[in-house]
Amino acid sequence: MNKIKEIVKVLKKSKSVALFTHISPDSDALGSTFGLSLALKKLGKKVQIFIKEEFTEGQKILFEEDEANRGECNVNDFDLFICLDASAIERLGDYAYCFNDENNTLVLDHHVCNNYIAKYNYIESESSSCCEIVYKVITALKIKIDSDIATKLYAGLSTDTSSFINSNTNSNSFLVASKLCLAGAKIQIVNQAIYQSKSLKSVVFKKHLLNNFQIKGECAYIGVDLKTLQELNGVKNDCSGFSKMLANYKEINYSFSLIEQEPGSFSLSMRSKIGFNIRIIAEKLGGGGHICAAGATIKAKNIDEAINLVLSTITENKEEMKNATI
Ligand code: 5GP
Ligand code: MN
Repeated sequence: MNKIKEIVKVLKKSKSVALFTHISPDSDALGSTFGLSLALKKLGKKVQIFIKEEFTEGQKILFEEDEANRGECNVNDFDLFICLDASAIERLGDYAYCFNDENNTLVLDHHVCNNYIAKYNYIESESSSCCEIVYKVITALKIKIDSDIATKLYAGLSTDTSSFINSNTNSNSFLVASKLCLAGAKIQIVNQAIYQSKSLKSVVFKKHLLNNFQIKGECAYIGVDLKTLQELNGVKNDCSGFSKMLANYKEINYSFSLIEQEPGSFSLSMRSKIGFNIRIIAEKLGGGGHICAAGATIKAKNIDEAINLVLSTITENKEEMKNATI
């Protein structure tokens, strides 16, 4: 792990920077990427963001989708490759090829399971969001945080703490949020974009989730196959939001949603209350994440097999899940 001083040096030395984040980017991924991009541009760097996926309606309000490059990244055009909010190379999807030993690479992340994938690594697992780390980096670079940067970073902070209620929320999250507000973060625009911008059309899928979720002891879960997902115009984000909602009930200690994104490939999203480390379960299934919010991509013949795989992994590792503190 490098010191912040070393990270500042690497950033100052670079002239043209390529920025990447994890697949299915949430607003922490986008906030940290777009926030850093704006800051580096202030230093006169040439910056390009590479993100293949389409933004959600709410994200389009906060982040300039047309500034994200969807095409190939010509590695010869850049002297620094930065990866934000991603704990493993596979999380970079189609851009994983940019992160090899030949390139000058840097990771800024807050996942405890980050396996130091770059030449330079700055990982702070006690940070609630990657945006909090980017705030620290921008401050160390002595770049003035304007209202636009502040708004983008606040969006990530708000998302990854679920409006300051997740277990990762701490005094520094509030401190950084306060500094961002003072710098002009438009918190009402962020709140509307993140929490109040869903179309009523999504209610059909939400009804399906509510009608079909299951409970097994202290665990609540839902599985959606590809056919249902397509018929009801469901999206992955709604499923993650749903597993988060299920874990809010007092009888439920952890929850998960599984959706079939491609035939035989299921995206798992898990949430838990404090005292239940579901990252342990996600890791056993080849994924990762945080103590109370984790996920994985798993292969199975059908949705029932995928659900049984997750349930049996929970049963087999229950003690470890309850005892693990990090
Ligand atoms: P979500 O449920 O919002 O999709 O993901 C919650 C967290 O789980 C993410 O912030 C990320 O840290 C982690 N996560 C989700 N999917 C994967 C995955 O496929 N692999 C890994 N390593 N982590 C994941
Ligand atoms: Mn994050």
